[in-house]
Amino acid sequence: MGRLIYLDNNATTQMAPEVLDAITKAEPVVYGNASSMHTFGREAGKLVEDSRKNIADLLDCDPSEIIFTSGASEANNTVFMIAASIIQKRGGGRIVTTTIEHPCIMESVKYLRTKGIHVDQVPVNRDGRVNMEALEKLMGPDVVLVSVMTGNNETGSVQPIAKISEMAHKCGALMHTDATQAIGKLKVSCRDWNLDYLSCSGHKFYGPKGVGVLYARKGIPFEPFVHGGEQEHGRRAGTYNTIGIYGTGVAAKLAKENIDEESRKLWAMRERLREGIIANIPNVTVNGCKERENCLPGTLDVSFENVEGESILLMLDMAGVAVSTGSACATGSLEPSYVLLACGLDVELAHGSIRFSFGRFNTMEDVDYVLEILPPIIKRLRAISTR
Ligand SMILES: *Cc1c(COP(=O)(O)O)cnc(C)c1O
Repeated sequence: MGRLIYLDNNATTQMAPEVLDAITKAEPVVYGNASSMHTFGREAGKLVEDSRKNIADLLDCDPSEIIFTSGASEANNTVFMIAASIIQKRGGGRIVTTTIEHPCIMESVKYLRTKGIHVDQVPVNRDGRVNMEALEKLMGPDVVLVSVMTGNNETGSVQPIAKISEMAHKCGALMHTDATQAIGKLKVSCRDWNLDYLSCSGHKFYGPKGVGVLYARKGIPFEPFVHGGEQEHGRRAGTYNTIGIYGTGVAAKLAKENIDEESRKLWAMRERLREGIIANIPNVTVNGCKERENCLPGTLDVSFENVEGESILLMLDMAGVAVSTGSACATGSLEPSYVLLACGLDVELAHGSIRFSFGRFNTMEDVDYVLEILPPIIKRLRAISTR
């Protein structure tokens, strides 16, 4: 294999060497069930509680407010089920969310509608940010839950979560944000944003796969989604994924320590690529956020006129560069990205989009290599395009 460059960090990240080292050392010795009362169990329990503290530090909340899950998907599903249960008990009420959430929320919405739960989805503007006037109109005393993602996995657009949280609380609703893409890139604070629930996933910030985090504010309505044992004070059943949870804690500590420097580096790579593409390839559109403060620093989504995104992806892959055509979960379907369509892109442009997502282990040389190979790829594809 020649040179391989990974620019799909919004789909998942490579585990940090510090995380790999920590879990490799712990794995053979700490194998007790963290719920057991003997020494083996207590040793495992210590790793879980250590991690809980690191994660609470990163999210700016109390460790008792952290619940470990299998991923952000489970955390998000849990919150939507809690809201549905409240609505059922009250015999009325609504959930308000957006048209650009991750599939695990979009599909929860579809599912809950089949059960008779009322869900409103607020539209977004061309820049991928929530239309605040439309949101204002959707708010009311019957809203039970407002759920808006912090940063979008495709466009990188960041939402004004503190402001939306204030709007939610003003009408007595609970506030949830899916912060999966923001962790380690933006300062996320459950306290400052006055959140009731927050979801994220360890493998998006250089931790192991299969560990998610749900923050649920002390005293807030809660019902388990996974029923069974008394783990997490009855809030989430299932034997602790001790080693995975421990690794997530190490990743959280690193994320907190490096956030400023890392965000700066991600933005510099993203901007170099954006400027290079605009300067060297005609008929391109940069999708989503524009201003630094409204962007996930490492995400760049670009539409290339008269080319299929899938063709670009395959050609880049042959040249050793891994990118995505939108959400990894939607890959395999030939449908254009619902997120880009929600931003008002026409179907043609949405079909020609590529998402580059940078991470901790990328370098400026990676950007320069892409800028070297991408213009001739687009030229070739356009020459054979039938569109
Ligand atoms: C990746 C992702 C998820 C899902 O995380 P899992 O680890 O697959 O459960 C949810 N929301 C966003 C915004 C994501 O990027």
